[in-house]
Amino acid sequence: MKLGIVGLPNVGKSTLFNSLTKAGAESANYPFCTIDPNVGVVPVPDERLKLLGDLYHSKKVTPAVIEFVDIAGLVKGASKGEGLGNQFLSNIREVDAIVHVVRCFEDANVIHVDGSVDPLRDIETIDLELIFSDIEILDRRIAKTAKAANNDKSLAKELVVLKDMKAHLEDGKLARSFESDDEDAIAFINSLNLLTWKPVIFAANVSEDDLADDGENNPYVQEVRKFAEENASQVFVICAQIEQEIAELEEDEKKMFLEELGLKESGLEKLIAASYELLGLISYLTSGEDETRAWTIKVGTKAPQAAGKIHTDFERGFIRAEVVNYQDLLDCKTYPAAKEKGLVRLEGKDYVVKDGDVILFRFNV
Ligand code: GDP
Repeated sequence: MKLGIVGLPNVGKSTLFNSLTKAGAESANYPFCTIDPNVGVVPVPDERLKLLGDLYHSKKVTPAVIEFVDIAGLVKGASKGEGLGNQFLSNIREVDAIVHVVRCFEDANVIHVDGSVDPLRDIETIDLELIFSDIEILDRRIAKTAKAANNDKSLAKELVVLKDMKAHLEDGKLARSFESDDEDAIAFINSLNLLTWKPVIFAANVSEDDLADDGENNPYVQEVRKFAEENASQVFVICAQIEQEIAELEEDEKKMFLEELGLKESGLEKLIAASYELLGLISYLTSGEDETRAWTIKVGTKAPQAAGKIHTDFERGFIRAEVVNYQDLLDCKTYPAAKEKGLVRLEGKDYVVKDGDVILFRFNV
């Protein structure tokens, strides 16, 4: 999974990105400080892995990972070449979802590019740039398809979808609010990689004081929440600065620090939970002496395709899956004990994998 972090300059993107990846990208109080897109690979925290690894005396424990891309240079006029211009836009096309950081904190020392804190205006500014960029993509695609359609009549339908989508965007709407009952049309739109088609998670960046009550008393956060609800998006509240401090701490110190702040989980954990939910993702686990590992799949994935995440041979030669629920296995303490109790099931190619399934795949090579 790949997430792109966007937002206006000075809203806290780099601070958040640094805290997520501890990558040490420059963070400074002026626009355009993050020129190159930074990529960081972040392990997905999963308490189940350690316990399962202990149970199997695994030599190593490998978490699922999320790749974050820090996408800088998004300013008013970016799609027209302002600021860092169009170069950032190609970086966003690659991601599965967008994390849109919005400034919900007041701080006279941190300049706002538009002079005041106003998250909804900021969201609109960014969205408009993304819409402009999508229109440009569509224009090019329409020209190409119209030409090809002269010789290939089957392209007529694609051309209609492209034009309908363009009209939709020209109304100032996001691609993801485009509705169609036609599955082929939706699949085609999906293949266009439009920026405003991608799911969005808003990171409401607040001051430390607003963390404990999750932004309940911050009117900016409430505005963002309402907006996200109307737009089928997720929101999570974060203080990027505090998150950076948390990232510096050892595991046990981290827990204490979070408790002191009145928090159950770090911003990173909130972000990962929000993105799993938004993208409809779950994890299944594999465990053995060599390795205990988490694998990320979409809800509804069947056993052979889940096996394919590990290796294409596993999918091709799939025979069956031996499945035990994580908690059942832990309660029984050993695999044979779980088997004896009838908790290890043999599942076939139509089995839909569940979150927390511990699976052993049987396959032909
Ligand atoms: P970017 O341009 O969006 O990447 O923003 P940066 O991460 O570089 O942050 C811009 C400035 O805002 C820096 O001086 C940060 O220290 C500051 N900043 C970031 N997050 C917070 C926050 O949660 N509270 C406050 N008060 N300042 C923050």
